[in-house]
Amino acid sequence: MSNFDQEQLVDRALKRIHNQVLPGREPQRYWGGPGSGQHCALCDLPVTAHQNEYQIEADVNGVLTTLRFHVVCKFAWRLACARAQFKQRRDADSSDQSPPDYAVHRGHGS
Ligand SMILES: [Zn+2]
Repeated sequence: MSNFDQEQLVDRALKRIHNQVLPGREPQRYWGGPGSGQHCALCDLPVTAHQNEYQIEADVNGVLTTLRFHVVCKFAWRLACARAQFKQRRDADSSDQSPPDYAVHRGHGS
């Protein structure tokens, strides 16, 4: 668990989306597994081995990057994506896109 409440995390995620540190839309796939000890892309705290970690591959500024999240941080980022897209849609008043389907894929821990 992190020291942030969800609303703080969503706010943080929105800022990172705005600054293009995090992608503004959800990927099609997640990989879940035990934490690798590497830092979470949202709260910057390590995801320890007794925590669950979500991994995604995302295009960040044109570079395919592996991002890791705590479970709570992944949900906060997802919420922030939805809000960012809603805002974009409202700003652009463009095509009516439905949110992408996504699936959780469990890693084999190899
Ligand atoms: Zn985190």
